[in-house]
Amino acid sequence: MVDLQELLFFADTTLDIGAFRDYCPNGLQVEGRSEVQRLVSGVSACRDLIEQAVELEADAILVHHGYFWKGENGRITGIKRERIRRLLSADISLIAYHLPLDAHPALGNNAQLGQRLGFDVQGSFGGVGGPDLALMGGIDSLLTSSELGARIGERLGREPQHVGSGPETIRSVGWCSGAAQSYIEQAAALGLDAFISGEISEQTVHIAREAGIHYFAAGHHATERYGVQALGAALAENFALEHHFVDIDNPV
Ligand SMILES: [Zn+2]
Repeated sequence: MVDLQELLFFADTTLDIGAFRDYCPNGLQVEGRSEVQRLVSGVSACRDLIEQAVELEADAILVHHGYFWKGENGRITGIKRERIRRLLSADISLIAYHLPLDAHPALGNNAQLGQRLGFDVQGSFGGVGGPDLALMGGIDSLLTSSELGARIGERLGREPQHVGSGPETIRSVGWCSGAAQSYIEQAAALGLDAFISGEISEQTVHIAREAGIHYFAAGHHATERYGVQALGAALAENFALEHHFVDIDNPV
């Protein structure tokens, strides 16, 4: 059992949230009960995740994608009202970490994704007015594009989409979880053989072809499942909490 504020101070500090210019508030987004014993984590604070947290009698939910995004309609109506009503009525806190959880060198989505895919980190790029988010490095074995695609599919449990072309043997890779397809040009300018992100846009295909780089869209959800799990495990260990990761299926 830990005091909510103590848990937040630890997580906010560990992730250095003040260093980022983000599109949403990081840390506590909806306040629930003041003590936490059971923590449920998930990628996005959708209704299904909240329902599972209620069923598991969670005290707090930890996510990568929370609420209150810059530019969205701020009114608490419709779907947003339903989600927040459910949280408040169950007295469950919503804690969200976005860019700071992409970037953390050990717990972050990109550090965790690199580990899972067998990449070693040699540098970073792609900051948005704050620390870099994307990572670059080498692979633990030389792979062709189809072998790399197969490895991504196997290790993330979702088939990636491969576009563009580059060297037959891939020696250097860049990667950034989520909707970071626009970093492909920076990856190409750095001379990387391949770039991996979550989503893909129509224009990504042309840029990959013209820049001569392999691009893999590995899934926004699939690439962002690992940061919350690592952070949840770190919080569980530090404060002797119960932590359950709940994976709500999302094909995108
Ligand atoms: Zn995301």
